Parts: sequence; C-alpha cells; structure tokens
Amino acid sequence: MLIFEHNQTKGPECMTPTADLKQRIIAASHEVGIDKIGFTTAANFEGLRESLTEQIKAGHTSGFEHPNLDERLNPDLIFDGPKSIIAIALAYPSRMTQRPPKTGLKRGQFARASWGEDYHGILREKMNQLIEKTRMLAGADARFKPMVDTGELIDVAVANRAGLGFIGKNGLLITEEFGSFVYLGEIMTNLTLEPDTPIACQCGDCTRCLDACPVKALLGDGRMNAQRCLSYQTQTKGMMADEFRPKIRNVIYGCDICQVVCPYNRGKDFHLHEKMAPDPEKVRPELLPMLTLSNRQFKDQFGEMAGAWRGKKPLQRNAIIALANLHDQSALPQLVAVMQADPRPMIRATAAYAIGEIVRKYDAEMIEILRAQYQREADADQAIEFRHEFERAINRINELKH
Ligand code: SF4
Repeated sequence: MLIFEHNQTKGPECMTPTADLKQRIIAASHEVGIDKIGFTTAANFEGLRESLTEQIKAGHTSGFEHPNLDERLNPDLIFDGPKSIIAIALAYPSRMTQRPPKTGLKRGQFARASWGEDYHGILREKMNQLIEKTRMLAGADARFKPMVDTGELIDVAVANRAGLGFIGKNGLLITEEFGSFVYLGEIMTNLTLEPDTPIACQCGDCTRCLDACPVKALLGDGRMNAQRCLSYQTQTKGMMADEFRPKIRNVIYGCDICQVVCPYNRGKDFHLHEKMAPDPEKVRPELLPMLTLSNRQFKDQFGEMAGAWRGKKPLQRNAIIALANLHDQSALPQLVAVMQADPRPMIRATAAYAIGEIVRKYDAEMIEILRAQYQREADADQAIEFRHEFERAINRINELKH
C-alpha cells in the first residue's frame, strides 16, 4: 500500500474553488497520459455503510480490502482537511496483438488486468506526475494523497461519484469510452474543485454477467460474494476448493468472464500505454515449466506483473489445476515428480489431484506410486485435507477398472 502526503502546510488560497484550476488540471492530466479524469467532493461515503456491513456479516468480502470500515468511508479520517477527490482512469488493452508460438506445451493465461507491468506502479507514476503539475498550478500549499487499489477508499465508489462511469451489475466501473477495461486511482486533496455528476447504472434489463459467471458470485445489485469470485480463488494460498478447480479452466490468475460478456465492452480495446502491452510468453505461459520455477526464474518471468503479488505458490497451484482441466497426458511424469519431491504439501496434494483427473485408464502402477506417496504424507503427519487428495486420486483411478 502506498500512502504519502505531499507538503503538510495548509493555506487559504487552496480553498478557493476555481473552474479554471479544474480545467487546467484536466489539461495536465491529458499531458501526462491519463485517459479519463473526474472530480468529486471529499464528503463521506456513509451511504455505503449498511451495504458493506451486510457484506462483511455475510462473509462476502475477500479480506484484501482495507480493514477499517470507518476509514474506507470517511476521507477526513485519512487526510487532514480533504476538500476534493480527483479520480482517474487508465485504459488497458483487451486483446493481444501477438499470439505466443506453438511449442507443443499447453499454456495457461492471465486475466487482462494483469497484462503488462503491474498497474499499481503505472497509476502511481501518472498520479505523481499529475500531482506535481497540479502543485505548480495551485501553489505550494496544495496537499495530495494518491491511492490505488490497496488504499482506504473504495475505488469504484469514488470513480462513480466523480462521474467516470457507472457501476455495473458486475460491480465494475463502466466508462463510456473504454468500457470496464480501466484501472482506477484517486487523489485526495485540500484543493476545492468543482465536482462532476455521478452516473446512474445503465445495465437496464441486461443480466449477461450474472448469467455467465460460472460460480454465481454476482449478487445482481453490483455486489458480489468475493469468496466465490474466481479471480479471488486464483489468489488464495491454500488448497483450492473442489468446486472452483474445473471452473478456472486454464486461467491461472484473475477472471475476465463478467467483463468479456458485457455489451459495454464490445469492441473496446485500447493500447494507449506501452507498459501495459502484454508479452505473450508471460500472459500465456507454458504451464509445465511453471511447476519447477526457481524463485529467481519466477521473478524474472512474472515479477513485474500484477498477478505475481501473491508469490509463486498460488500460480503454481493454479498451473497444476489448469493441466488437470486440460487433461494434459504429457504432464503426468512431471506431475508425479512434483507430487513426490516438491517441498510444499499443498503443491504435492494438488499434483495428486491433477494425476487423478488426468489418468484416463486404470493404471496399477500409478496407484502404487500414489499409495507410496500417501504413506509418506501420513508418516509425516500431513493435514487431512492434503492426504485426502491422494486417497481421492487413488479411488478415481481404481474406478476406471470397471
Ligand atoms: Fe450490466 Fe449487462 Fe454489463 Fe453486467 S453484462 S455489467 S448487467 S451491462
């Protein structure tokens, strides 16, 4: 989480609303390559409290949110004398211009929001450039606090109130120009700037995202059960629950389904920022080599992507599940090696699961290999949830006898 405040000094000249200043900030945002900008007051977001409290009580939050609800709703608790919030959006590409070469190995994929360099850094850089330009325009007494994603405020709520777009039934901010393929950031300031007008939901009778979500994570009113969201599921660190494993298909990070089906995203594909360009080898990586990546290799290949933020383990787990979903027979020898030698019980257990999914004919030798490993897991007193995967794989292959 990046939080820094420029210049703590307050001054009365900062408090004068000027349409001119706003226009100059808009012009400056275009100079630094910000694709959309809007303004809202620093009034609280208390109107969201009831809904957020309900979501927390229902267990629908991911746990990645800022933990202090008061701070999420009240800009004045996290900034001294806030007057306005500047909301920005950067458009990201939705289509690859190049495909990776065919190598005979199955490939996984990263969701679009993880293409290119980690957007947190890109947004921070743009916001810092805008802050510097705004300080030049407004004077040294102007203060700012930029936030992106991991900040206290709720990005989509700020962006919606600042007129950047509406919040769809998929919970995403949908802009007129770029659809929902946008990264959002916001800057709190002590400058008084004329607010823009919030945009009401324009989904109408459409329910495409609700219908398309394979795990029914969307609640229908712009909220979701984040615990069911496949994007969240790809970011957890333990065993993935059974239900979600086939649903991720070969996507090893994130999920784009509710964006891809949205009619407001039709034809939206903007390649405006070089750093967001997807490298085909990174965003469609070969799955098998992922299983044995050293930390160094992982950092070199994936380190600069947003999808690397949870480290190597969840992505390797997802790669194993993707191999299972693709029924990749050629992966079996390496999956056996991972199941026997990987130092992480969760990865060994996921490999056992994949073997059980991939083997299509009764295979006594494979059952023996699984049994031997099961015994080693039992001797090492591994948790039941891990051992269970070995038993299940053995049972699955045994069932093929009949
Ligand atoms: Fe709204 Fe339809 Fe888009 Fe879902 S798919 S966000 S319901 S317009």
